[in-house]
Amino acid sequence: MHKIHELSAILADQIAAGEVVERPASVVKELVENAIDAQSTQIDINIEDAGLKKIEIIDDGIGIEHDDVKIAFKRHATSKINDQKNLFMVRSLGFRGEALPSIASVSDVHLKTSTGDEGTQIHIKGGKIEDIKPSDSRRGTSICVENLFFNTPARLKYMKSLRTELSQISDIVDRLAIGHPDIAFSLVHNHKEILRTSGRGQLKQVIGDIYGAKNLKKIIKISNSDNDFTINGYVSLPELTRSARSHITINLNGRYIKNYSLVKAITDGYGSKLMVGRYPIAVLNIELNPILTDVNVHPTKQTVRISKEEQLCNLVAKTIYDTIYKENLIPDVMTRD
Ligand code: ADP
Ligand code: MG
Repeated sequence: MHKIHELSAILADQIAAGEVVERPASVVKELVENAIDAQSTQIDINIEDAGLKKIEIIDDGIGIEHDDVKIAFKRHATSKINDQKNLFMVRSLGFRGEALPSIASVSDVHLKTSTGDEGTQIHIKGGKIEDIKPSDSRRGTSICVENLFFNTPARLKYMKSLRTELSQISDIVDRLAIGHPDIAFSLVHNHKEILRTSGRGQLKQVIGDIYGAKNLKKIIKISNSDNDFTINGYVSLPELTRSARSHITINLNGRYIKNYSLVKAITDGYGSKLMVGRYPIAVLNIELNPILTDVNVHPTKQTVRISKEEQLCNLVAKTIYDTIYKENLIPDVMTRD
């Protein structure tokens, strides 16, 4: 009798879910990223009770072929990379093949998908396929996640108030919309619309949709490049600030990332013009050869290692400094210690 045995697929998926699916906002992030990778032009997100009751994402992307539907829910199954070389050059948002099996292992999932000529629908509950059958053939995918964490009560108990969970969802959708101005997003919570973007491709317009059109007068464009990096985006003038860093969005080759050094580089760019404890609204898009990055650091793919990070930070700070001081619209009234 062996003491050591392989875990069942469902148990392994639930363990992975512990990292990938921390809260409803993580489900929204993973599913919207899948819709983006599927070349969708429109992504509609319907949420009930901050995602704990229902998360539904409808896209008009390439869909999944009938024979691939079951495989998509298997751990480490992906259409996005196939060898090690791809891993180091990855440009798609997904590549780990973990989201669908992880989410399905801790909820009740109904997925309907079509490539345009054949449609499939599948129902999976707690990682077990309940039903799979043909469906209509409208191109795209809709996925509905209900009763999240129904079989992991400890995780369910850890959820914060509905308000907090909803604000996390709204935050991630804002950032994904900012990173993809060419996709029309809508976010509806309990039948009330929270966000709608046009998908017409104008980053500035998306910023207006999120932060208010009247603020656009106080937001200016930045752009610069060196041998390794191209940066562009928008930053607010020092008179338009927020009390939290969370209105700074950094996208690296189209992927929303968290990076403290870059946030600091952005605020450093304001020199003495920001009041202590105030942060700008900023969107920084960075393009670089993917070989200079390692996205495979954490299951949520939000931490990315960047070679030459210091050089990048210097470029960002200098570009913002030059742009803000050239504008020279307000006097240097505030000092930071
Ligand atoms: P990953 O995104 O890392 O590849 P996922 O578990 O999120 O892994 O998805 C598995 C596969 O299912 C994807 O590689 C993709 O082929 C397919 N897929 C998932 N969602 C969609 C979607 N909305 N549209 C088309 N294909 C999808
Ligand atoms: Mg994915």
